[in-house]
Amino acid sequence: MQIDWDKYIKKQPVLADIIKGKPAFWPNPYLLPNDEIWQHEKYSIKDIEVADADLHRYAPLIMALFPETKTTNGIIESPLKKIDGMANKLRQRHPFYGQLYLKMDSELPVAGSIKARGGLYEVLKHAETLALEHGLLSSKDDNYAKLASPAAKKFFSEYKVQVASTGNLGLSIGIVAAAVGFKAIVHMSSDAKQWKKDLLRQKGAEVIEYQNDFDTALDEGRERSKADPKSYFVDDVRSKDLFMGYAVAALRLQKQFAAQHILVDKDHPVFVYSPAGVGGSSGGVAFGMKAVFGDAAHVFFVEPAACPSSTLGIVTGLNNKISVHDVGLDGKTEADGLACPSPSVISGDIMKPLLSGIFTVADKDLFDYLRDLYATEHITIEPSSCATFAGPDRLFTDKLALQYLQEHDLMDKKDNIIHIGWATGGSMVPRSIVQQNLDTYL
Ligand SMILES: *Cc1c(COP(=O)(O)O)cnc(C)c1O
Repeated sequence: MQIDWDKYIKKQPVLADIIKGKPAFWPNPYLLPNDEIWQHEKYSIKDIEVADADLHRYAPLIMALFPETKTTNGIIESPLKKIDGMANKLRQRHPFYGQLYLKMDSELPVAGSIKARGGLYEVLKHAETLALEHGLLSSKDDNYAKLASPAAKKFFSEYKVQVASTGNLGLSIGIVAAAVGFKAIVHMSSDAKQWKKDLLRQKGAEVIEYQNDFDTALDEGRERSKADPKSYFVDDVRSKDLFMGYAVAALRLQKQFAAQHILVDKDHPVFVYSPAGVGGSSGGVAFGMKAVFGDAAHVFFVEPAACPSSTLGIVTGLNNKISVHDVGLDGKTEADGLACPSPSVISGDIMKPLLSGIFTVADKDLFDYLRDLYATEHITIEPSSCATFAGPDRLFTDKLALQYLQEHDLMDKKDNIIHIGWATGGSMVPRSIVQQNLDTYL
């Protein structure tokens, strides 16, 4: 792929660092005010509300398949926790203003990562579609718990659900699909951690391993699924359902803010920092936050310095047609959940008018954040998730980030900022791996 980077660098000099794999902050020059954003978007809050209503309809089925969700009436949600200890830790190193919270999707039921939201939604929606077509459900008003019966399981066992993943999406789809009764096949890239493959096999999914990166696993998985009329492919870089399943998080967060008496408005803005791989779950969250909170929300991605695929996709507009290999980066990172050389087909265009910017982060920093969080809050999350802290850590020191705050008249409101670190995964990490992570890059 021939790209005239000099042309982009002339207007956005920081790209010179990013394409060399240096940690930096890229302020999105295409960001628009909220009232203009929605003239450019093909989706809106309505699409999120549809996904939310669907998930409420599936709640009896979710309770039947995953009894641990009975306490929350079949709605899977994660805690929002204030983490003052971590904020103080950040403050010891750099200036930091405002309040720091952790959205703990690391504890999300069913799959222990942000992928539980979108994965559960897309697999159950597929099950619903088949059930309506084949008369297992008479209508959308029928009792969905029926779909957890042995007869329904037998029906679903005739069908396959396939997915390609660096780890967590595979876990989510594999676990949910197997619970419904589908034959689950997960195509795992070389970056996927061994414990995730082991766990999936233990849950009854078939795991196919690739020696290459995520792009290869994705192409292969998609082709194999296409060849089988009874197979459904959950496409991480193309699926609208997956994306909207993730976006529902913003509606839930709005309720949590209300319950915890956290005021969010233009004078008390919310800043969200989403660890991004292809821009799917991260993009869903960002889209949801802007759709729900408008100008009061400032949404950022954080990517590994060695794998800034979403940045390249948005800047060039090439989305999935570009890869970090095109700028000579190897895409290798310990943040397995973010090791995606090419970004989503759909997310980049959706992000373009609404994303505030993207931080890129060195692998070593991820493990420092991991230790800091453990030391201050006794919380352990995946290295990929720790990328989120690059945002609050560098927002008030990076020159371009400070410029962003000034341009948005936020300097005098900086103490009011509600920072949301998004912990994208963690609770399923085996104890021995947690210890290894705590000792990495020491
Ligand atoms: C999937 C994942 C991400 C990134 O999500 P994308 O959908 O690829 O942007 C971040 N962290 C963890 C732990 C993940 O599993």
